[in-house]
Amino acid sequence: MTERRTKIVATLGPASSRPERVAELLAAGADVARLNLSHGDLADHAEAIACVRDRASALGRACGVLVDLPGPKLRTGDLAEDYVVLQPGRRFILTRDPVPGDEQRVSTTVPGLADLVGTGDEIFLSDGEIVLRVIEVSDGDVVTEVMRGGTLRSRKGMHVPGAELRFEAFTPADRSALAWALDNRADLVAISFVRNAADVHRARDALPQDGHRPLLVAKIETRSALDDLDAIVAAADVVMVARGDLGIQVPLQRVPLLQKEIISVCNGTGTPVITATEMLESMVHSPLPTRAEAADVANAVLDGTDALMLSEETAVGDFPVESVATMAALAEAAESAAPAYAEILEPEGADDPVSWAVAHAAVQAAEDLAVAAILCPTQTGATARRVAAFRPSMPILAPSPRPETIGGLTVSWGVTPLPVEELPAAASIAEECERAVSAALGVGLVTSGDLVTVVAGTPGPRAGRTDFVRVVRA
Ligand code: PGA
Ligand code: MN
Repeated sequence: MTERRTKIVATLGPASSRPERVAELLAAGADVARLNLSHGDLADHAEAIACVRDRASALGRACGVLVDLPGPKLRTGDLAEDYVVLQPGRRFILTRDPVPGDEQRVSTTVPGLADLVGTGDEIFLSDGEIVLRVIEVSDGDVVTEVMRGGTLRSRKGMHVPGAELRFEAFTPADRSALAWALDNRADLVAISFVRNAADVHRARDALPQDGHRPLLVAKIETRSALDDLDAIVAAADVVMVARGDLGIQVPLQRVPLLQKEIISVCNGTGTPVITATEMLESMVHSPLPTRAEAADVANAVLDGTDALMLSEETAVGDFPVESVATMAALAEAAESAAPAYAEILEPEGADDPVSWAVAHAAVQAAEDLAVAAILCPTQTGATARRVAAFRPSMPILAPSPRPETIGGLTVSWGVTPLPVEELPAAASIAEECERAVSAALGVGLVTSGDLVTVVAGTPGPRAGRTDFVRVVRA
């Protein structure tokens, strides 16, 4: 078993969704497989999910499935040719007419764009490469000057900073994509271009009351999300620092500091956080990362991230398995310098002070006694997440009978989810502890005679509470 505590999210795509490749990614250290619904077709994604589940169970380990909803991505329209080159200083029109684009103009997917922008606004095309400045809005057309030129292809991402306030993050298309994610039993579902906590609440309202409920991941990638960060973190189950789009919406030099701020808010509330995009970008075409990328991965670990994400590196890159292995090695090395338990600021736990205090007491006892492991038998995963928030030095083992709880915990720092059989509620705390210990012994993660700490909620209907801690000998 690996010593690594930081989790790795690997995006699947043409380079990685075949069964042998998936097995290699898992063996190299992928903890979560991400399906990006902005690309590819649903049948391929469903096949990839089936393949992940199959390979993970063959290897006897958990791999979470994260379905990433496309969100209201603004795009420019089709071009007449393959591409056009926009020259700095020239005029370029974003038109409401559905014409094939050329050097003079292009249509967009944004109805009423002309009402959303004013003279002087900047508009970014081609995922940020091309910068336009609005010089005039006339008759539904937005007339701009090209400030930074570049190559534009059909249907590329467009950013109109500020305008996202008009576009609800959880779109009707996302709603049907969510239904698909539920059918395919995704463990985590990511919402793109979240603007505020209400966007997260609307997605949560679309989840079934009973039955399969994935964790909701709020992607922080708009300017407005930064103004509502605390409420978004409180509303979401998991947060993603989505540096790709964030780095277009805000000046690039702010991204490293925002990463630290978002991670720190998440750490302070025990919310798992994923650091994403371009972490090992050069490995799309090279078997080795740059020194700068190595430093980026290490710094995200030192910032306190729970998980690191690979996008194109594993989805379309030439070295998907090497990318995961490299990230695993970099993360593990950085962990030796990451803040230890005693240096961690205490999470606030405003949602449930009793549960937080008991989790804290469990970790304190575990550290005082240098136990072999902290066992968190859990229905919802909440106890394991609270324990992980204190960054204890020993393994956190989380036995659960619920597949989506197991899958959801794959993204949490330091937690090893342990699938166990569904049994009737334990008759006593002692029985709950015995079951947890035997699950850990059964997979060889503790040895008979080891001292372990067990922390959980008293068996019964109140799932999500943490109210007892015991120290027992396995
Ligand atoms: P994306 O999100 O890959 O879906 O765009 C991540 C990001 O923007 O960084
Ligand atoms: Mn994005």
